[in-house]
Amino acid sequence: MKIHEYQGKEILRQFGVPTPRGIACFTVDEAVTAARELGGAVWVVKAQIHAGGRGKGGGVKVAHSHEEVRAAAQQILGMHLVTHQTGPGGQLVRRLLVEEGAQIAREFYLGMVVDRESQRVALLASSEGGMEIEEVAKVSPDRIHTLRIDPLAGLMADEAAEVARRIGIPDASIAGAVQVLQGLYRAFVEKDAMLAEINPLVLTADGSTLALDAKFNFDSNALYRHPEITAYRDLDEEDPAEVEASRFDLSYISLDGDIACLVNGAGLAMATMDIIKLYGGNPANFLDVGGGASREKVTEAFKLMLKNPNLRAILVNIFGGIMKCDVIAEGIVAAVREVHLSVPLVVRLEGTNVELGKKILAESGLPIISGSDMADAAQKAVAAARSE
Ligand code: ADP
Ligand code: MG
Repeated sequence: MKIHEYQGKEILRQFGVPTPRGIACFTVDEAVTAARELGGAVWVVKAQIHAGGRGKGGGVKVAHSHEEVRAAAQQILGMHLVTHQTGPGGQLVRRLLVEEGAQIAREFYLGMVVDRESQRVALLASSEGGMEIEEVAKVSPDRIHTLRIDPLAGLMADEAAEVARRIGIPDASIAGAVQVLQGLYRAFVEKDAMLAEINPLVLTADGSTLALDAKFNFDSNALYRHPEITAYRDLDEEDPAEVEASRFDLSYISLDGDIACLVNGAGLAMATMDIIKLYGGNPANFLDVGGGASREKVTEAFKLMLKNPNLRAILVNIFGGIMKCDVIAEGIVAAVREVHLSVPLVVRLEGTNVELGKKILAESGLPIISGSDMADAAQKAVAAARSE
């Protein structure tokens, strides 16, 4: 689960990481009031969306007067901010962060991710702050320093200092950098993050270290023990289809292809997307209806898939193990009768009572294309999507 920058900074501050003072706002007037409350002479007005690259897209503006704050807020609020992470349609800006402007001397990059291979949290640090780390990794990978942190010892002060030195933080500012690194690590572990990023971490004119940006992604499976993180959830920023799916306990991820898949079991769902690709098609989603998919669940799944404007075909791939194929077939028939099916539907059933299941589909009178096995069904779905 992702959160906004201003929320991420609240967490950072709890762990002793200095950030600029700032106030989250929902209206232009609130932004001006916030600037007044913060005081000072320079403010930065920042779009709050769950995507990076806001600066380049025009979502971060420096203001030198209350009038400029007003103008920036007017421009940014309500805009469809397009960044490399939003897709071409952009993301509607509903919230702002107004914060005090920092005097930046240098920018650095700090990031933490779970490194599955070493089973540790990996700290990534670079002198190339403000840039996308993917770009740094491509152009100058030697500028990224990685430290895999021992989970028992945690991030030791001397290790943190060594990393800080390597990315070029001057001696006088090492202590501040160590505080940031250790705070970030503690926040990461204690809040069950999967990713945490401070880009940029800046060195100000007076040598202090300050987190100018904050990005967190939390492990959804651990949210049950962090109500304070769950409270940060902003459904406006999430894919509406995925939010809808979670209400029905369906594992659903939107993708940009045109063949929707309805599958039971995550592994089979992955394999189904793979085989669609293999035959030259593109999956519109990942959808695992689970082992005990009820008729209601299958119906909701169909409704979800049919909401996708790019949809050109649906492929249902079910292995009836515990769930019997005839039960699934009845569920499919009932669901299709309830929704208005506007695209070809290919169904592949296998497992317990498969013959009975196929018979139910065939006798339903519905235009269901039957796939004899996975390869056959995938090819039929790709062909159906092409001819639509
Ligand atoms: P994004 O990564 O989405 O583009 P950032 O929060 O990193 O957004 O802001 C982009 C750039 O704007 C930063 O690299 C920094 O140069 C500048 N910036 C952001 N916040 C401030 C601030 N409080 N004071 C001064 N400059 C800032
Ligand atoms: Mg940034």
